[in-house]
Amino acid sequence: MSKPKRDYYEILGVPRNATKEEIKQAYRKLALQYHPDRNKSPDAEEKFKEISEAYAVLSDDEKRRQYDMYGHAGIDGRYTPEDIFRGVDFDEIFRDLGFGFGGFESIFDMFFGRGKSYSPPPGRDLRYDLEITLEDVVNGTIKEIQVPRTEVCKVCNGSGAEPGTGLKFCSKCNGTGQVQQVRTSGFARFVTITTCHVCKGRGQIIEHRCKVCKGSGVVEVNRKIQVRIPAGVDEGYTLRLKGEGDVSREGGPAGDLYIVIHIKPHPLFKRSDSDIIYEARISFPQAALGTEIRVPTLNGGAVLKIPPGTQSGTIFRLKGKGIPKLNGFGRGDELVKVIVETPTKLTERQKQLLREFMKEMGNH
Ligand SMILES: [Zn+2]
Ligand SMILES: [Zn+2]
Repeated sequence: MSKPKRDYYEILGVPRNATKEEIKQAYRKLALQYHPDRNKSPDAEEKFKEISEAYAVLSDDEKRRQYDMYGHAGIDGRYTPEDIFRGVDFDEIFRDLGFGFGGFESIFDMFFGRGKSYSPPPGRDLRYDLEITLEDVVNGTIKEIQVPRTEVCKVCNGSGAEPGTGLKFCSKCNGTGQVQQVRTSGFARFVTITTCHVCKGRGQIIEHRCKVCKGSGVVEVNRKIQVRIPAGVDEGYTLRLKGEGDVSREGGPAGDLYIVIHIKPHPLFKRSDSDIIYEARISFPQAALGTEIRVPTLNGGAVLKIPPGTQSGTIFRLKGKGIPKLNGFGRGDELVKVIVETPTKLTERQKQLLREFMKEMGNH
């Protein structure tokens, strides 16, 4: 895990209700101060990245909404770093301020170091569906999961060759990994260069295959991973664990693991965002005369006062008895919906009393 990120509003020094224009002005001011063209101090680049990321998120309506609702988890779980920076009007701002990209072609190159050399493709991303309870949502939880994924074979260290045996030059491509094919058509000569299919472009072939991985260099393992799930997550919330996906077969970075959260239905409560809904059944006399009832809550129970003359369907709100908000600020409420039950099995005496009651009300 990397160090915790600071609040984007705090980074730009703007209030949470700042307008787009205020956010842009704040970013322009900070960019003037930290742009690598002007500021050569060693931590200016980090600072510049930080303010640029904050601006990228807060200047985009949808990303800002996600961030306001779910904090950094709402951004990091949903967007790749490149997605965060895509479509932002950096070029316009920098041109306006008189900065180039300092030899970088775009802000992408500056931040992701792209376009410098070939980078091998990363391993496959994996998805794991994880079911948790409403209680887990309330308290946050740590779950241990087992994810089948590929890892580098430890016996041959990924070479695919049996330990103690060597690799030999591929005779098909003379160790270059590439094969040239020349074709003539009339006066024209066509040269096609393809990857050597014998050595798959490595230029070397294995003399004796590793017995454990059968020469592939990777093995399937069931990896145990501890997953920390923050309080307040909702159905479909996705955690991204960087580098916990399949290993790359070509020496690139490992893929990522996406954990998709599902929440089991609760026997007592329904959920509505950060509120929970409970249905309480009371009798007609209780509703008419008023009473106190005990209702379950997520942490034990509470006493609810039912005032005289309560109608069926009335909703009472128990403040702060709901689910904590994902951003860590406050929690929802418990809504108690009162259902007044009509009695079905009456004794003779009860019938008698109700008839008298009806007469008293003037009904026939
Ligand atoms: Zn070859
Ligand atoms: Zn091996």
